[in-house]
Amino acid sequence: MVLAELGSKISRALQQMSNATLIDEAVLNACLKEIGNALMQADVKVDLVIGLRGNIKKRVNMEEMAAGLNKRKIIEKAVFDELCGLLDAGTEGAKFSLKKGKPNVVMFVGLQGSGKTTTCTKYAYHYKKEGYKPALVCADTFRAGAFDQLKQNATKAGCPFYGSYTVTDPATIAKQGVDRFKEDGRDLVIVDTSGRHKQEAALFEEMREVSEAVRPDLIIFVMDGSIGQAAYDQAKAFKDMVEVGAVILTKLDGHAKGGGALSAVSATKSPVIFIGTGEHIDEFEEFETKRFVSRLLG
Ligand code: GDP
Repeated sequence: MVLAELGSKISRALQQMSNATLIDEAVLNACLKEIGNALMQADVKVDLVIGLRGNIKKRVNMEEMAAGLNKRKIIEKAVFDELCGLLDAGTEGAKFSLKKGKPNVVMFVGLQGSGKTTTCTKYAYHYKKEGYKPALVCADTFRAGAFDQLKQNATKAGCPFYGSYTVTDPATIAKQGVDRFKEDGRDLVIVDTSGRHKQEAALFEEMREVSEAVRPDLIIFVMDGSIGQAAYDQAKAFKDMVEVGAVILTKLDGHAKGGGALSAVSATKSPVIFIGTGEHIDEFEEFETKRFVSRLLG
């Protein structure tokens, strides 16, 4: 998997630095260049790579560093922290937590094919196991078959669902579904919205209308983790239209280069909360920055 390749390239760059008899400015520069190249090959945006290299150099000041200090350890730590920083970019304290017993309304947005419907179900299933009472609302009236897909998924997850074959206004259905489930005492109401095919004005307008109708506590942006360089702009476009509060990356089991993840976080200033690692309902992992980076670096 290419994500692992990124990790091994970075680890190799650090190893080569460690092998040098003397770690000086030139050795550090060579190491940072390797790391930068690896990140860019993994589709991390150039600006972010430049920023990361600059930050590491600032932290590891070769001239001022006393002799005898373990430079290797200090550099490794700086690289680790900066990679975590890329994934946490501006998201400190932004993590939303569900409140048990309260009617939490969570709306999902993202492009068609990103894995949104699958992810809604995984999310419902995850919290069901934690004792919540989730319910799913299908507000996608654009794609034929969307409601059937959600119904099928909801049944798999053992969750009630709401949708309509006849109502064509997504905001109306969303509101009806949310109201119904709130009355039923459901404490996690998940609203799946349309994704259309591409970022287009009609999609964003619809998202805004649904959001105004149901007033979600959290809006989750679902992104295909394998889309590479396009990730930054796509994520930014969504963030500009609705209050995205968290990101879920899907398809990190396949050939995802992973760099898109770093760019999406930076674009939305929102934390990645879960990753999808397969098509099945339980192929879903809670995302933890430090663990992700540790694993990346092996
Ligand atoms: P939506 O149009 O955004 O609602 O996307 P869907 O939920 O219908 O998913 C599109 C396709 O991606 C389906 O074939 C899913 O099974 C697949 N998919 C979703 N999440 C993942 C994932 O994490 N890994 C893999 N391999 N496939 C996924």
